[in-house]
Amino acid sequence: MSSTDHDAPVLVLNAGSSSLKYQVLVPETARVLAGGTVERIGEDGSGVEDHAAGMRRVTAELGDAGVDLGRTGLRAVGHRVVHGGPDFSDPVVVDDAVVRDIRDLVPLAPLHNPGALEGIEAARATFDVPQVAVFDTAFFASLPPEAATYAIPREVSAEHRLRRYGFHGTSHRYVSRAVADLLGRPLESFTQVVLHLGNGCSASAVDGGVAVDTSMGLTPLQGLVMGTRSGDVDPAVFTFLHEQAQMSVAEIDTMLNKRSGLKGLAGVNDFREVLARADGGDQDARLALDVYVHRLRHYIGAYAAVLGGLDVLTFTAGVGENSAPLRARVVETLGRLGLAVDPERNEAPSREARVISPDGSAVTVTVVPTNEELEIARQTVALLDRSA
Ligand code: ADP
Repeated sequence: MSSTDHDAPVLVLNAGSSSLKYQVLVPETARVLAGGTVERIGEDGSGVEDHAAGMRRVTAELGDAGVDLGRTGLRAVGHRVVHGGPDFSDPVVVDDAVVRDIRDLVPLAPLHNPGALEGIEAARATFDVPQVAVFDTAFFASLPPEAATYAIPREVSAEHRLRRYGFHGTSHRYVSRAVADLLGRPLESFTQVVLHLGNGCSASAVDGGVAVDTSMGLTPLQGLVMGTRSGDVDPAVFTFLHEQAQMSVAEIDTMLNKRSGLKGLAGVNDFREVLARADGGDQDARLALDVYVHRLRHYIGAYAAVLGGLDVLTFTAGVGENSAPLRARVVETLGRLGLAVDPERNEAPSREARVISPDGSAVTVTVVPTNEELEIARQTVALLDRSA
């Protein structure tokens, strides 16, 4: 069997600075052959000194899982790259020039792109198959200027490439298309808001399959309340804390990214724990939930206005897929905007994509499990098929 056979799998890699998450799957059937995460790369005592060693661990784990790439063939490697900057609006086949371009974007994504580059280098050295970079920002390259532009001096934005880029785009793209399949409606025929609620949280407004707004910005800090990230704050908080509390820029940055959001308000970032504490009467956890839900309603209303009317609202990712109480709370006060959930449908213990609003609702509310690996694998083979 050759590596170009259409039932041969794709390896999807999501490399962070100290981790290598992988999945081997067949994009056409969504069959997963193996998956896992190599963690603590580069940390003392982990036994995995760098990403090259991490990649050796991946191949060893694939062997342990009974995946013989020599026999099945490997069609390609698809890499998740967080930041594609202003120029990458589509997946690209990785070559030396693309590696240079991704490196050039490190100032925009200092926490994310270096890890992705290490993963790309290690995979290129290990697998002699085409490698494709799929960017988390790409789905939002379609944002119109009025949604992407910050109202700051244009020369400053231009010099430093400052704009709303948006993140979680692979998930928003996958889910918005899966909604069309679920409803049996052409993607072009409806407007939707997708809420990706995991540890990181983001909302998108999608018109006929095209993203027209999103809550994350230059970085993944903006927008919704997240596990440890604040989401929207008055930007003057930075100046205030720097000047009045003598906090350094690095300290404020760490506070907003790692010690804020649910963790900052409730003391814990795991949503299940926040819910349990709130149910037990913990006032901090209750306030955290109230702020989280208020922000969601704020964005749903804003995006319904941006879209000129909302047809579908979708929940996805760890919180969105699993927490019926959260979904009910978000929707409960939006009745006059045409939103409602059917309690039995909302609480059904299903892992499938499904409608949870009552029949005949003005706005259809859905739950759709995200699958970023499958989306990356699909985009990888679609690009290779187009360029074959
Ligand atoms: P990531 O953004 O890291 O991919 P996930 O999409 O897996 O994260 O989401 C993780 C979040 O999902 C955690 O806050 C976790 O508490 C929450 N979660 C998982 N299962 C449930 C559940 N049954 N009810 C409520 N929250 C849940």
